[in-house]
Amino acid sequence: MKIYDRLYIDGQWTASSDPGFIDVTNASSEQVMGRVPCATAAEVDRAVAAARTAFASWSTTTVERREALLRRLHEGLLERCDEIADTVTKEVGMPIKLSRRIQAGLPAMVMESYARLIANYPLEERLGNSLLLREPVGVVACITPWNYPLHQIVAKLAPALAAGCTLVLKPSSQAPLSAFILAEIIEQAGLPPGVFNLVSGRGAVVGEALALHPEVDMVSFTGSTATGKRLTVLAAETVKRVSLELGGKSASVILDDADLRVAVKGTLGACYLNSGQTCSALTRMLVPASLYEQAASLAAEMGRGFVVGDPFSDQTRLGPLVSAAQRERVRNHIRKGIEEGAELLTGGPMAPEGLDKGYYVQPTVFGQVDSQMTIAREEIFGPVLSVIPYRDEDDAAAIANDSIYGLAGAVWSGDDERALSFGRRMRTGQVDINGGQFNILAPFGGYKQSGKGRELGKFGLEEFLEIKSLQM
Ligand code: NAP
Repeated sequence: MKIYDRLYIDGQWTASSDPGFIDVTNASSEQVMGRVPCATAAEVDRAVAAARTAFASWSTTTVERREALLRRLHEGLLERCDEIADTVTKEVGMPIKLSRRIQAGLPAMVMESYARLIANYPLEERLGNSLLLREPVGVVACITPWNYPLHQIVAKLAPALAAGCTLVLKPSSQAPLSAFILAEIIEQAGLPPGVFNLVSGRGAVVGEALALHPEVDMVSFTGSTATGKRLTVLAAETVKRVSLELGGKSASVILDDADLRVAVKGTLGACYLNSGQTCSALTRMLVPASLYEQAASLAAEMGRGFVVGDPFSDQTRLGPLVSAAQRERVRNHIRKGIEEGAELLTGGPMAPEGLDKGYYVQPTVFGQVDSQMTIAREEIFGPVLSVIPYRDEDDAAAIANDSIYGLAGAVWSGDDERALSFGRRMRTGQVDINGGQFNILAPFGGYKQSGKGRELGKFGLEEFLEIKSLQM
């Protein structure tokens, strides 16, 4: 059991005025594995006041000091890498080998990238008779989800600290433990009191209090589109800056000259990553009608090949989902797909054989999916792939863009230029060309209802900067 009974406010571990706790559940065993405090609006007030006070001096620290601090945080994350991977695998269910690389390794890399970036970023420049200054936005409320819990935090915290902002973090209630490990690393690194504050608690209480708080200058949110809309309305009351990283329903478009096996394998891997609990998951696979039978049977065969089970086993490629509620939501979508007439090629709504305990869902592939079906329109957040046939490239582009979302996408072709040219037609923030790899310096974020603003690299830093011009 990992028990944290204090919040981290103004450089002190401090009790919440609410004596209740939030239990954290192990996704494989369904047993309680830890607990964290449940903060109230009173703790939000204290944390925001501490961040406001600390802003006065932190915003004026030198770039060298901020760089050095980010480097210390990077080292701290590396030292506790195994513990972080183990914790997130238990909370969220990602297979441990992947978890070491992604849940623990990626945040460390992002932290280091901001140490480098801030050291070289032009915070001042001349424009004719003006001097332009880039200054920190102020006190930032960070509200984060459970699927990549530490990465989502660091993608906000590292650029915010680099910019000179101070923070109040409200982590997900489903997977909050890595946020507490991070707070310990921050304490050890010697960040001045109040620069970073951690208030775990319910979204509807702590999250809303932060969004409404007049002393918060910016809300940086990652999570569902519904919550993002709600926060935007609350934050409008005080005209806060709001950045949103929201849901997706991303298309992987296989053109007729692509290597079909490579393209189907790449799509399915990106759809099933973290058991499908990935905002940029490639959940719609668009294939030319003439290649449909071949593509569908390859997807079904490969889907069946994903070993589901204990995320700590070396054989496992698909762990459990995060919670019973999430498992039920995904199973309901699978039932809906069947009801609406999609062809179930593999998987289904029943528990995988021999896995009655743990929030497991079968790797599922649907064929003959129509763009109007619920499974083609709604974010499922589970291991469910929809195969959609298309007539020609125009039809493929129309289907790919026929979504309220616009987060990610992929194109596969034997000709890179052709794939690039199709990628330009996709109304999404990211497109992977022939399996192009994730780049931590490239902007990450969505078009349409997938969000507002960008994270990572210099684009992520700029979210936390105001611009001032001094005329001379
Ligand atoms: P969520 O339910 O929207 O929760 C996200 C965060 O918001 C949690 O900390 C939650 O707190 C808090 N929250 C909930 N209701 C709130 C309210 N009324 N006011 C303020 N805060 C509130 O999302 P999730 O289920 O954790 O995460 C899955 C979603 O995140 C998916 O839609 C996924 O696509 C999206 N996501 C997007 C990206 C991206 O970069 N675009 C990355 C990862 C995930 P509690 O935990 O206490 O409820």
